[in-house]
Amino acid sequence: MITIEYENLREVNRPFFEDYKRTFSDILNNGWYVLGENVTKFENEFSQYIGSKHCIGVGSGLDALTLSIRAFQFPKDSEVIVPSNTYIATILAVLHNNLKPVLVEPDIKTYNINPTAIERKITEKTKAIIVVHLYGKACDMDEIVRLSKKYDLKIIEDCAQAHGSMYKNKKVGSFGDFGAFSFYPTKNLGAIGDGGAITTNDNRLAAIARKLRNYGSDIKYHNELVGFNSRLDEIQAGFLSIKLRRLDQINQHKRKLASIYIQNLKENIIKPILQEGYYDVYHIFNIRTDARDELKEYLSNNGVKTDIHYPIPPHKQNALKGIIDANEKYPISEKIHETTLSLPISYSHSVAEIERVTELINQF
Ligand SMILES: *Cc1c(COP(=O)(O)O)cnc(C)c1O
Repeated sequence: MITIEYENLREVNRPFFEDYKRTFSDILNNGWYVLGENVTKFENEFSQYIGSKHCIGVGSGLDALTLSIRAFQFPKDSEVIVPSNTYIATILAVLHNNLKPVLVEPDIKTYNINPTAIERKITEKTKAIIVVHLYGKACDMDEIVRLSKKYDLKIIEDCAQAHGSMYKNKKVGSFGDFGAFSFYPTKNLGAIGDGGAITTNDNRLAAIARKLRNYGSDIKYHNELVGFNSRLDEIQAGFLSIKLRRLDQINQHKRKLASIYIQNLKENIIKPILQEGYYDVYHIFNIRTDARDELKEYLSNNGVKTDIHYPIPPHKQNALKGIIDANEKYPISEKIHETTLSLPISYSHSVAEIERVTELINQF
């Protein structure tokens, strides 16, 4: 039986091996290992790619979110709006700042935060909205920006799943006060370890974020903020510069595989929607069906590995017990978590493999 893996990171990275080895050897030899020329070079390249004025390399996607929130110094008891169906990191970043996460339900068709539902949760304590461009699809940024202006709220974009994703020809990470990116190995722009970046168009915020990642310091031994140690690694930055040149190609490949699924999967499977003005990059290709668990097992028995993003919604996680209001109901999130299934869609998958998965699902 042919097996089709959900994702094989060695194969995803194989096209870059020779360039990575050369870069690794160069960095080893030059002897400057933290915040050097490779980080600066990558920051310039990435801000140019995104269309933001600044990029600040940090240690992870979670740190990119945490430091972005920290930069505003919101008063205690402030509330930050987050989607109820996100990966838990988005919510942890709010909690690490001792602020209150307010969960807002998504639109069942796009899986992204529902602007109408946001407006119902805004109070006088609300200070910011964190939008998550989930699965690689941008949120409705016109509506989000309109709300932020109407209620004077900051916008942080969680772009961990959406490198290169666009809304009306503008890349995500360039709309909000901050964009927060992760370079975790599975992401569309994945490193060979942890990494992250913050993007912003605001000079003042950029200067704060730059200090926060480095002990609150710009000038060695002069500490102006209560900072962190969260710096993008020189080696990872060197690797990311190499991969960034191929990011559009990676995204185009994933879009091609997605279009095969979308065109050929039978009608009783709920597929991601296509909308005018959105350029989706399919970090994850999710379908939904009430027979999710049976379909997952059937595919597994036929050699196809799938994943679930995510099996447990944040409000049901033990870590958030007593933190998220237990009386609040999140039926849309629960519905998504119960029915969603992520199909193989990586840079190393072939068209033939995706056609095979499609065929198997259609025979289910
Ligand atoms: C991966 C991810 C993060 C966290 O990124 P790390 O680099 O693993 O810290 C945050 N938000 C979302 C939506 C993610 O998918």
